[in-house]
Amino acid sequence: MAEHDAVIVGSGINSLVAGAMLAKAGWDVRVLERNDWLGGAIKTAEITEPGFHHDVFSGWHPLFLGSAAYAELGENLHARGLEYLNTELPTGSIYPDGESAFLSTTQEDNVAEFERLADGDGAAWEQVVSEFLPNADIAFGVMGTELWSAAGLKLGLQAYRRMGSRGLLEFSGNGLASCRDWLTDNFKSPRVHGLLAPLVLHTGLGPDAAASGFMTQVIAVAFQMGGLPVPKGGGARLADALVAMIQEYGCRCETGADVSQILVSEGHATGVRLESGETVTARHAVICNVTPTQLSLRLLGDGTVPEDVVREARRFRYGRANMQIHMALSEPPRWEGDERLIQTPMVHVTPGLDGVSRAVNEAVRGLLPAEGTIVCGQPLAVDPSRAPDGSWMLWIQLQELPAVPQGDAAGEIEVGDGTWTESLRERYADRIQARLARHMPNLESALLSRVVLSPADLEAANVNLVGGDPYSGALSLDQNFLWRPLPRQPSHRTPVRNLYHIGASTHPGPGLGGVSGTLVSQELLREPLSRRLLSEVPAAGSNLLSAIRSRLGFMGRDG
Ligand SMILES: Cc1cc2nc3c(=O)[nH]c(=O)nc-3n(C[C@H](O)[C@H](O)[C@H](O)COP(=O)(O)OP(=O)(O)OC[C@H]3O[C@@H](n4cnc5c(N)ncnc54)[C@H](O)[C@@H]3O)c2cc1C
Repeated sequence: MAEHDAVIVGSGINSLVAGAMLAKAGWDVRVLERNDWLGGAIKTAEITEPGFHHDVFSGWHPLFLGSAAYAELGENLHARGLEYLNTELPTGSIYPDGESAFLSTTQEDNVAEFERLADGDGAAWEQVVSEFLPNADIAFGVMGTELWSAAGLKLGLQAYRRMGSRGLLEFSGNGLASCRDWLTDNFKSPRVHGLLAPLVLHTGLGPDAAASGFMTQVIAVAFQMGGLPVPKGGGARLADALVAMIQEYGCRCETGADVSQILVSEGHATGVRLESGETVTARHAVICNVTPTQLSLRLLGDGTVPEDVVREARRFRYGRANMQIHMALSEPPRWEGDERLIQTPMVHVTPGLDGVSRAVNEAVRGLLPAEGTIVCGQPLAVDPSRAPDGSWMLWIQLQELPAVPQGDAAGEIEVGDGTWTESLRERYADRIQARLARHMPNLESALLSRVVLSPADLEAANVNLVGGDPYSGALSLDQNFLWRPLPRQPSHRTPVRNLYHIGASTHPGPGLGGVSGTLVSQELLREPLSRRLLSEVPAAGSNLLSAIRSRLGFMGRDG
C-alpha cells in the first residue's frame, strides 16, 4: 500500500497546479489519472495529418497567464520548456454580409474601431474601460478568491470601503445585468453587439442570462489587456511543464489509474482505491478533480456525506453541449472581406447578438441550431510552429448544442433518438463547414482532413464533461459564485475532513486559470499546525497521541 502526503484524483489543470505547488513546498503528492494522457481538457495531438499539432480540446491561455498559479510557477515552467506566444488582435466577428469588427490589445485602436462602427461607440468603449479598471481588482478578485472564507470577506470589505453601501449595491446590481442589456445600454452599433456577445459563450452563459453582462466585460477587458496567448507548440506544453515539475520534485503522475472509491475512516478521507483494487493512502489530503455527481454518487460510499448534500449533487445541472471540429488545410483560407481576419486567432462567425441568443435558446430547447455561433480558431495566427510551412489549421468550437438533440431548428437533419451517432455528428459538421466556406471560398479545396468531436465524444474523452458540457456544470447564477458547486458545500472543502473538491465544477468554474487547485494548495500549505492536528484527531475514540506522532513525523521529514 503506497502512502503519500496528498493524493490528487484526475490530472486537469487544477490538479497539476495543486500538485506542482504542493510538490514545490516539499509535499509528497501522487496524481492519479484514468486516461492515457495527463492534462484532462489540455491535449495536443496530430489527429488529422502528420505534422499538424492540434489542441484537441482547450486552446487559449489568457486565464493561465493572468493567474496566481502563473505568477507563482511561471519561472519554474519556463525553465521546463514552456514558452508563450501572443497576438495584438485576439478576436473579431464576421457577419453574414461579409462585414466584420475586431477587438485588439490597444485601447486607442479599439476606440477607433468602435467609432468606425457607430458614432459615439468609441467613446462608449472608453467609458466602459475607464469605469471597469478602477474596480478590476474586485471583479477579477471574485474569480480568484475562496468566497466563503476570510479572504472572501476581506474582498467584500475592500469593496464596501471603496464604494460605500450604495456604491456596492450599484456595482453588484450592474453585475447582474444580462449581456444583452449591458450591450444595448452602452453601444449603438449591432456590429459592436455582435463582436462582444459571442464572448459570453466562453463563460458558459448566453447573452440573456443574469450576470452575463459582467462576464462579457471581464472577457472583453481581459482580451484588451492580455491578448490571446498560447504555448508555443501546443497547449500540452503547459501540462508537460507542470508534470515535469511535479516529477522533478520526486512525485508521481500516473495514467490508467481510475479511482473508484475514496477511503473514509471516522469522517476523515484517508486515501483512495483504484478500479484495479490498489489502495493509495493520503496522510493529509485527498484532492478530487471530479464533478459533484461523481464525488457524491460514485466515489463516496452511502452515508458518508449528509443526505442533503447527496440530494444537491443529484440535482447538479450540466450546461449546453459542445462540438469541436479540427481541420488541416493545405493553405491558409482566403477570407473574403477584411484582411485582418487571417491574423485573428479567434474569429466568431455570427449573425450578431440576436443570432447568439437564438442559437442558445434553440440548444436549450433541445434543437440543433439553424445558425449556431462558429468559434473559428486559427492557432497558426499566433504560433506558426504547429503545422508545416504554408499550411493552415482550424480549431472550431460550437458551444450551442443540446446534449440529447430532439430536433433540428433548420428542419434539415434527422436526429433519430437523440444519440450523437457518427452520421449526426458529421451532418451537423457539414452544416458548419458550408457556412464557413461562404466566407472562405478555398476552404473545401484546401481541406486535407477533418476530425469532429461530438458532445458524446467529449464525454467519452473526459468523464467530467458530462453530456459534452465543456464546463463541467451549468454556470447559471444559482450554480455559480457563492453557490458553486453546491449550496450546501459552496467551497473546496467537503463534509469529509481532508477531502477537497477542485476542478471546473467548483468555484470559480471552468478555464485554464487553475484557480481551484491554487486555492486548495494555498489553504493546505497555510493551515496552522493546531488545525492540522485537530483535523487528524478521529472524531470518536480519538487517539491524540498517534495524531501528534504522525504530524511530528511529517514535520520532521519536511523540515
Ligand atoms: C473542448 C473544450 C475547449 C475549451 N477551451 C478552452 C480554452 O480555450 N481556454 C480556456 O481557458 N478554457 C477552455 N476550456 C475549459 C477548460 O479547458 C476546462 O475548464 C479546464 O481544462 C478543466 O480543468 P479541470 O482541472 O477542471 O479538469 P479536467 O481538464 O476536466 O480534467 C479532469 C481529469 O480528471 C480525470 N478523472 C475524472 N474522474 C477520475 C477518476 N475517478 N479517476 C481518475 N481520473 C479521473 C479525467 O479523466 C480528466 O482527465 C475548454 C474546455 C473544453 C472541453
